[in-house]
Amino acid sequence: MISRSMIPFTRRWVVKIGSALLTRDGAGLERSMLAPWVEQISARRVAGNEVVLVSSGAVAEGMARMGWQARPKALHALQAAAAIGQMGLVRAYEDCFQARGLHTAQVLLTHDDLADRARYLNARSTIRTLLKLGVIPVINENDTVATDELRFGDNDTLAALVANLIQADLLILLTDQDGLFDRDPRAHADACLIPETRVDDPQLDQVAGGSVTGLGTGGMVTKVRAARLAARSGTPTVIAPGRGEDVLGRIGEGERVGTLLVPFQGPQAARKQWLAGHLQVRGRVTLDAGAVSALREKGTSLLAVGVKKVQGTFNRGEVVACVDESGCEVARGLINYDVQEVERVKGQPSSRFEAILGYLDEQELIHRDNLVLL
Ligand code: GLU
Repeated sequence: MISRSMIPFTRRWVVKIGSALLTRDGAGLERSMLAPWVEQISARRVAGNEVVLVSSGAVAEGMARMGWQARPKALHALQAAAAIGQMGLVRAYEDCFQARGLHTAQVLLTHDDLADRARYLNARSTIRTLLKLGVIPVINENDTVATDELRFGDNDTLAALVANLIQADLLILLTDQDGLFDRDPRAHADACLIPETRVDDPQLDQVAGGSVTGLGTGGMVTKVRAARLAARSGTPTVIAPGRGEDVLGRIGEGERVGTLLVPFQGPQAARKQWLAGHLQVRGRVTLDAGAVSALREKGTSLLAVGVKKVQGTFNRGEVVACVDESGCEVARGLINYDVQEVERVKGQPSSRFEAILGYLDEQELIHRDNLVLL
């Protein structure tokens, strides 16, 4: 179970910044408010963290550009504002990060993208590659085609789904509050900050179900929900004060900042449950003894070279069982190629994929992060 003292040893972070922290009184984006975040994220990179940024602010910037004083009620007007403002949002991040010698990448996602197996794997490999390249992914909801976050989330849920997607070690939801309180701090002077608890603590239902903060979209209700979602892949969440000095640095040092919500199970157990519970096994691959021991003893990914036989009808992103030569199941995981492709590359080294298939999607048939040993 993770505690504060373990946070300095976490590596992959998803940091979510809401519009309220980037704009003054609902006006357009303010670079002076964005710059400290860029500075802190750059410092985390130097400290060894991989950081994925989930940022809203597109609607606010779009409204400012169009000279709209009040947030439009019509969803399509909000969507238009988001499309207009997204240009300014990514430009502002690009300029600020570039000044620190860091490249950024725009990633627009929807919840549906992450529910679809193949798109999930595509998004995952792209973000993983960006991180390997040392680039900062700047993620927002694709508000033109989806409206989930416009309506209820201000990207809290999206950030949790991204944490699931890349198996983040930590999700940080920055807010304009100090964290989660046991009662509404505006109504009760004696309300206490909850420094740390488990995501399944029933106290949180009262806090989240009650009136605590209720700041329109992205209030504490969605934050607690997001933390519970992140916990499904074993990721802990810090609901942190976005207005504090060097918040990310202090969290990274293990300081008691905001509220830490810890998952009830570790990443491997969480992933196992997810693979076991949510997905049907669509096929199986029979492995030679070398591949079985590499998976079991070294925790490697599954490579085509160790596959002897393929059965079933599966597509990229579906669950496939890995069995040994006696038919005993060793592992299961999300496969990167469909059955016809695996049939063609089985027994071959990944270096031959391009010659055989005409392309190379991934080196591995099943990446070890998507594989659960049984
Ligand atoms: N994706 C939206 C944005 O970036 C969400 C925020 C909102 O609803 O205002 O602006």
